[in-house]
Amino acid sequence: MTVRTWDDARRVTREVLETDRPIVVVGGGVLGLILAEGIRQRGRHVALLEREPRLWAPVLDEVASDLIRRGLTQAGIEVLLGEEIVEVHGQSGRVAGVRTSGGQRMDAAFVVIAIGVRPDIGFLDGSGVRTDRGILIDHEFRTNVPEVFAAGDAAQAYDPISGQFRVVTNWNNAVEQGKLAGGIMAGSSDVYRGVIVSNSETFSGVRVTVLGLTLPTSEGTIIMTGRDQARGIYRKLVLRQDKLIGALLVGNTSGEGMMRKQIVEGKSTSGTELKSRFLTGLVIEEFPRG
Ligand SMILES: Cc1cc2nc3c(=O)[nH]c(=O)nc-3n(C[C@H](O)[C@H](O)[C@H](O)COP(=O)(O)OP(=O)(O)OC[C@H]3O[C@@H](n4cnc5c(N)ncnc54)[C@H](O)[C@@H]3O)c2cc1C
Repeated sequence: MTVRTWDDARRVTREVLETDRPIVVVGGGVLGLILAEGIRQRGRHVALLEREPRLWAPVLDEVASDLIRRGLTQAGIEVLLGEEIVEVHGQSGRVAGVRTSGGQRMDAAFVVIAIGVRPDIGFLDGSGVRTDRGILIDHEFRTNVPEVFAAGDAAQAYDPISGQFRVVTNWNNAVEQGKLAGGIMAGSSDVYRGVIVSNSETFSGVRVTVLGLTLPTSEGTIIMTGRDQARGIYRKLVLRQDKLIGALLVGNTSGEGMMRKQIVEGKSTSGTELKSRFLTGLVIEEFPRG
């Protein structure tokens, strides 16, 4: 079954409560982590499998992933990194267990798969509308076909920080894009600044905020981190050409609104200013990159 609606969620909850056997969650991204936590809170044993060496690998670095993993483990969730399912075996038409790429065999009442979102845009095949992972749009939500627009989860929009076009699947983005696209279709001259990654979640009591580019690979970026090991706090800021372009905040997410604004507006700043505003009281390290 696919989980999309409230009724789907209720059915999963019912199934969880009806079994006393372990449950395997595949995928250590946001939805996988939330699902694992919800199942664990109902007293079931959960094993979470993530094929990458880090949780929520597209945005978390090793330090952040470790802090979250610690919280999940303390909550009783078994976390396996660098492992994926190679086999699901069944009995009498039901899931009985799984075998992982690391050779482990695990008993499982059922398997929950949360390995990412893919827009359902097959209906556009052969229409002439250009698609990639999503529907490709320009700064005004226009596709390559005149008078055809796209917005929200289905659209692949410009990310000014990475310079790439990306599908962003969250509510705030869909609402912002929908409002702007509607306005532009009706003749307004509103400006769309592009999408930036922006997400805040709490996993087993560990608060995490991700903004913009958190894992820079390009040259010319400076990474500043602030840590308080005892309190489980880790704050990472990414700076490029005197502009804040990313932030990864774990354990203490204060200032996230200001940081988001600064990233979206592309205001000039300095490492000294950022450190004094956002990293005070922490053990600071600085890594020029490239
Ligand atoms: C289980 C789950 C949990 C989520 N949790 C969060 C969260 O905690 N925070 C958050 O920010 N976001 C969350 N999201 C994401 C958020 O729901 C989406 O980003 C948002 O709904 C996107 O809005 P949208 O209008 O682009 O697409 P949708 O809400 O998916 O709406 C698209 C609509 O178009 C219809 N449709 C599809 N194809 C066609 C077609 N060919 N013709 C006509 N109609 C069609 C669909 O039936 C649907 O009603 C979650 C999503 C899911 C599935």
